[in-house]
Amino acid sequence: MLSRERQLGPVPARVAHAFGHPRQPHALGRALWCAMRESKQCSRCREVKPLADFTKCPRYTGGYSTWCRTCHSAYSRERNKTNAAHRRAYWRAYSEPRREHIRAYGRQYCREHLAEFRARLNKVPRVVRNARERVYEWVKLGKLTKGPCTVCGTTQGQIEGHHEDYGKPLDVLWLCAKHHSRLHKGSTIAAMRQEV
Ligand SMILES: [Zn+2]
Ligand SMILES: [Zn+2]
Ligand SMILES: [Zn+2]
Repeated sequence: MLSRERQLGPVPARVAHAFGHPRQPHALGRALWCAMRESKQCSRCREVKPLADFTKCPRYTGGYSTWCRTCHSAYSRERNKTNAAHRRAYWRAYSEPRREHIRAYGRQYCREHLAEFRARLNKVPRVVRNARERVYEWVKLGKLTKGPCTVCGTTQGQIEGHHEDYGKPLDVLWLCAKHHSRLHKGSTIAAMRQEV
């Protein structure tokens, strides 16, 4: 902090008083310095990186977060991992006594948004809808059985059928909801399998 102030020179007392907080007389100098620079040091990994590597935070002096994007994502990945069990337990304790209430709310929500859901469904191309409906029917009739997720092998939760080719409605790849969504976001089966 000291070296930054030395670069700009001291802020005149009157200016500091007009713009800065009385307890932070150098606030203006710091803000000016922050606005002029093009790179910044991450306070977590201590690397100096271009401003584009920091998320914008208008509340902060200089308008950028103190941690770089890499550090932020590493932190939240770690925290998600350690917190997962805790969050699951918390949700169970919350939802079990309120089960009926939550279900009723879900049904109510569906009823209220029926027109909206229909409109969204009508935008899905005919071939895609046909393929999905065929799979749904065949599973219901017992002609097609859902397998475990092709990537992680789970049978828990929602298992979905993925079509490589909507023209072949019964040519289906079974995936859990998480891996199915990631596949549609551009990931490949091989890449996802390597992570498991
Ligand atoms: Zn960093
Ligand atoms: Zn999976
Ligand atoms: Zn799919």
